[in-house]
Amino acid sequence: MEKSDSVKEIGSELFCIRVPLPDSPLKYLNSYLVRSPDRSLIVDTGFNHKLCFDTLTSGLKHLGIDLAQTDIFVTHFHADHFSLVPKLKTPTTRVYFNRLETELLENWQGFGPMLKNADQQGFPRGKLKAALEAHPGSRFGVEWAPEAKILSEGHTLTYGDYTFTCIETPGHTLGHICLYEETKKILISGDHVLIDISPNIQCWNDHENPLKNYLQSLEKVGKLAVESVLPGHRRGFTDLNSRVDELTQHHETRLDEICNILDKAPQSAYETAARMSWDIKAACWEDFPIAQQWFATGEALSHLRYLEENGTIIRKLSGNNIRFALANC
Ligand SMILES: [Zn+2]
Repeated sequence: MEKSDSVKEIGSELFCIRVPLPDSPLKYLNSYLVRSPDRSLIVDTGFNHKLCFDTLTSGLKHLGIDLAQTDIFVTHFHADHFSLVPKLKTPTTRVYFNRLETELLENWQGFGPMLKNADQQGFPRGKLKAALEAHPGSRFGVEWAPEAKILSEGHTLTYGDYTFTCIETPGHTLGHICLYEETKKILISGDHVLIDISPNIQCWNDHENPLKNYLQSLEKVGKLAVESVLPGHRRGFTDLNSRVDELTQHHETRLDEICNILDKAPQSAYETAARMSWDIKAACWEDFPIAQQWFATGEALSHLRYLEENGTIIRKLSGNNIRFALANC
């Protein structure tokens, strides 16, 4: 077999194809492949972008994969994981996906509701159009709902020597699923657990509590016997428990930071995000790329919703605008 820079063998008949993500700070998506003479399985795909398609299909060709004999599992609906599926799918490809996000894609109403919520949360009206244009979902997404085989907690997929069990891990998205190979102690973690960077936990509506879900899902995977974590981005790693502890601590520190910010005066989600500390190479908030301001505001909001639901903070409405304040002030 000729060498391919984007393909790495990580286990017996288990490969990672590194798919570049143009204009994304994430840099690459890790697409995993279980190769088998019967049927093979791809886990996650890449943006709807030529560079992603070319890299992934040449990696698959290099490994001798026939897409007609291959099925696709998607950990969650974000564009970097999902959006190449329609281009890869053949009439005989089974697409495995979760129910909540299949329904979301079937009933997709565009980004309108999200933008309306962002406006209420203080995101400057004049920047909404630019934020939408910079959003990877609108740049590299697809308006397509798969005719998917729906998987949920405990369902299993067997390909070659691997049997994966679905572990529902809502938080990063509402329907996120990780795949657990119990015998080999492998967890394909999607964007639920990453190393070096913390998964983005966003909220853009008034009824969900994604951070609460996320912390529960972290605790859940922390109980699994795992020796190898295969994440959606960056490198694989071994010590899942330490990473779960670090991420839990990270969000607790964030919640404290936000309470300190609100201690001065009520703030909108956008104002809160502007005052939080971020690991981004920019001199000040105003210099953040618009897409990063968007993700930061969504992240601030998931923490604000968590604090609101546990009674630490309350919302104050003035016209259409929402600000948050400490409950005991
Ligand atoms: Zn991702």
